[in-house]
Amino acid sequence: MNNPYESMQTALHELSAQGNLRTLSHALHEGRYLYAAGQKMLNLSSNDYLGLAANLELRARFLENLTPEDFLPSSSSSRLLTGNHPAFDELETALARLYGTESALVFNSGYDANTGILPAITEAEDLILADKLVHASLIDGMRLSRARWHRFKHNDLHHLDRLLAEHAPKHRHIIIVTESIFSMDGDEAPLSKLVQLKQLHPNVLLYVDEAHAFGLRGHRGLGCCEEKGCIGEVDFLAGTLGKATASAGAFVVCRQVTRDYLVNHVRPFIFTTALPPVIAKWSRHVLHLLPEMSERRQRLNTLSRRLHQVLREQKVKCPSTSHIIPLLIGDSARAVYRAEEMQRHGFYVRAVRPPTVPEGTARLRLSLRADITDEEMERIIEEVAK
Ligand SMILES: *Cc1c(COP(=O)(O)O)cnc(C)c1O
Repeated sequence: MNNPYESMQTALHELSAQGNLRTLSHALHEGRYLYAAGQKMLNLSSNDYLGLAANLELRARFLENLTPEDFLPSSSSSRLLTGNHPAFDELETALARLYGTESALVFNSGYDANTGILPAITEAEDLILADKLVHASLIDGMRLSRARWHRFKHNDLHHLDRLLAEHAPKHRHIIIVTESIFSMDGDEAPLSKLVQLKQLHPNVLLYVDEAHAFGLRGHRGLGCCEEKGCIGEVDFLAGTLGKATASAGAFVVCRQVTRDYLVNHVRPFIFTTALPPVIAKWSRHVLHLLPEMSERRQRLNTLSRRLHQVLREQKVKCPSTSHIIPLLIGDSARAVYRAEEMQRHGFYVRAVRPPTVPEGTARLRLSLRADITDEEMERIIEEVAK
């Protein structure tokens, strides 16, 4: 007979011995800076890519027009009961209009969207083909589904093509699942090619998670699908509102029939209290300003390219083509040491370790942000060059 608490303790000791123990750190925020352990650091670990969450003026403007009637901190029920405040409809209408799609549906988080949609749209006779590096929430969505699933080699179109040719005739539906900008490597899916592949088979649908591209890519900041001109070919285009757009929640833009189906089948949509309506209002507020933020997007792009170029010159292998820049270290303990060193030098960078990334690929993950100054950028480059 085993003592359950002893089992937990043993598991924690094992994680600690591998250098993979996670703990919650305490941090105080001030704009793009973060204070921890008596040190002021530029936050290079958040997803506030455009610096909007750090922007006081943006919040002040929103608050100016907010009355106690508008400030609803709770929706008090699921949207299918009494929680469907008009703020959700307004946000969804705005999203659908921006994307030029028939409809949009908002979820409480990207995690809820990804774990909810995949099980909802698949049956036992279906197959999900997901990129090897998709986010944990998509993996959990596949695990919860009754469908069979298989992961294709990262961004490997030949592998996917072979799998499709083999399996498409044998399954009812196939769902191809990918991210547009990958959260850990910062590289991009070949979206146009994925669309072409999907179009070869009438029973294949495409699901694209734009968590790290929404707000940042494309003329109006709608993401990589806007940039590549393929919004209309993507069956489930998901974005999160808690990253570049500084709010909370997530959405999928899709056909009306898809939305109606999801409302009836996605369990993390049906069986949960809706987001606070004030959050939906805030999302709408930020969304409204998004198309005008191309200067911020360009700034982030310039900073990212500069760092890519430095890494290339130093012959450091880095797959990134975006603002997410992994510096591969390998060993977990060494990655933690390097992260702490950068923190001592004023940059809040964290080590990303297994199981978030594959064994032996612990890394520092730098998330660049549009509000980094030129002077800060030069110091980041010096740090990285060490
Ligand atoms: C962050 C993230 C999610 C989860 O979104 P939340 O709104 O934070 O739950 C989903 N997919 C990807 C690729 C992400 O990076």
